[in-house]
Amino acid sequence: MNISRIEHIGIAVKSIENALFFYEKILGLDCYNIEEITDQGVKTAFFRIGDTKIELLEPSSEGSVIAKFIKKRGEGVHHIAFSVSNINDVLTEMKSKGVQLIDKMPRSGAEGLLIAFLHPKTTNNILIELCQ
Ligand code: ZN
Repeated sequence: MNISRIEHIGIAVKSIENALFFYEKILGLDCYNIEEITDQGVKTAFFRIGDTKIELLEPSSEGSVIAKFIKKRGEGVHHIAFSVSNINDVLTEMKSKGVQLIDKMPRSGAEGLLIAFLHPKTTNNILIELCQ
């Protein structure tokens, strides 16, 4: 796998509106994009930090993965996303190396990227997202 950089860090929050205060007013970051990904029941807000980003994730439906995560573990770091040049090749490679895939095929995520998640069970309990 050829990871070029950390694309973003995903952070689960109960409310983007409330979290904006900390990220904008306290940290001085600019939120440049807010979008809702309806099929995943999540609303996202993005901030650039140099070459990487922070992605805030707010549940927009009760049954969403983020809603369950917050219920179980509270707000906090949800996943780390790596930038890769060929996501299909990486998925094939990860599978052959015994990594459990959440997404067997890439799907579309926020910001028009192709994404796929690796299961924390085989990644030392870190949810890893691949982005192309
Ligand atoms: Zn993400």
